[in-house]
Amino acid sequence: MTATIIDGSAIAEKVQNEVAARVAERIAADKTVPLLATVLVGNDRASASYVRAKHKACAKVGIETRGFQLSETASQKEVERLVAKLNADPEVSGILVQLPLPAHLDEHVILDLVSAEKDVDGLHPLNVGLLVMKDREPAHVACTPLGCIRLLEESGVTFDGATAVVVGRSNLVGAPMAQLLRNRNATVTVCHTGTEDLGDVCRTADILVVAAGQAELITGDMVKLDAHVIDVGINDVWVDHEADTLYVCSETGDNFVAHRADESKKGSRRKQGVLQLSTDKAWHKDVAPELPEDDRISLFRKVRMSGDVDFDSVEHIASHLTPVPGGVGPMTIAYLLVNTVNAAELFDK
Ligand code: NDP
Repeated sequence: MTATIIDGSAIAEKVQNEVAARVAERIAADKTVPLLATVLVGNDRASASYVRAKHKACAKVGIETRGFQLSETASQKEVERLVAKLNADPEVSGILVQLPLPAHLDEHVILDLVSAEKDVDGLHPLNVGLLVMKDREPAHVACTPLGCIRLLEESGVTFDGATAVVVGRSNLVGAPMAQLLRNRNATVTVCHTGTEDLGDVCRTADILVVAAGQAELITGDMVKLDAHVIDVGINDVWVDHEADTLYVCSETGDNFVAHRADESKKGSRRKQGVLQLSTDKAWHKDVAPELPEDDRISLFRKVRMSGDVDFDSVEHIASHLTPVPGGVGPMTIAYLLVNTVNAAELFDK
């Protein structure tokens, strides 16, 4: 038997079409156009690219965006002032503060300041608290767990009376995921690093959601026959490359494995360091000095993306399984769009 693969990209497209239709209906009814404001602090390239992807996804469905970029050295007060301004702006439906924030900023204080109605990431304590309370409704729930629920619904799962196991208890994924399953009448166990025998617990699960950030943690022998398995994990796994060399960092003396830039595809390699051509000296990327462009070459190491589930062994046990990539990932952005339209509706008179 081979599991049915849950196509997250196709389901995310369906969600995007639903959002686009809701936005079009709002415009036709002369209601406000949903607007997502993003706050990016500092120069983290990955964060900047996530924000760009979110803006692009919004544009595709007719949601407006406004991007606010503050410098790496922005003070706590500056960020707080910006969030307060966006809270008060009636044109702004949702606010997304891109994480992680630079270390000198107090993330909790900043996230708590976002108004609960505009908290499209679902991280405000009021929203989290209301999710946990019986017969109460939060304004928003975190996007990734919402996306996982939709994937499970589309795969035809029965929540009522199911035994569910969530591996991971983070505020962003594991904790809200467990609560959403519980709210649908599944009996839920949450696993974490203190769990004694992870395999024993996971084998009880009709629904298994894994969000541990550990490549291929869950293998086929840990999965119940015919379980629905959702793999949230995104991990880089190093791949051997024939040109890999052990370099010694000239600054710290630490070793790192890498090869000179080659034709390997963008996105399937990570920059590890820099080599100075005139001296043949290498530096790890974190401590590399500024060098003239014609006297340096980047050093890379190949990676492949892996989930938290060992796909090859689990696909013969599970009845439904998400791939990585193409499973949960596209759903997270899709549900940011859903939350942003929901936020606009909250402000309808
Ligand atoms: P965190 O690191 O915040 O949390 C990981 C959780 O997993 C913790 O609760 C930790 O336990 C638990 N855990 C770690 N190792 C084990 C183990 N060996 N056995 C049992 N439990 C373990 O990660 P996130 O929740 O933010 O993310 C989890 C994964 O999902 C990551 O790979 C992340 O990249 C990915 N992700 C993917 C998204 C997507 O859109 N596809 C969105 C968000 C995240 P403890 O609490 O004891 O430390």
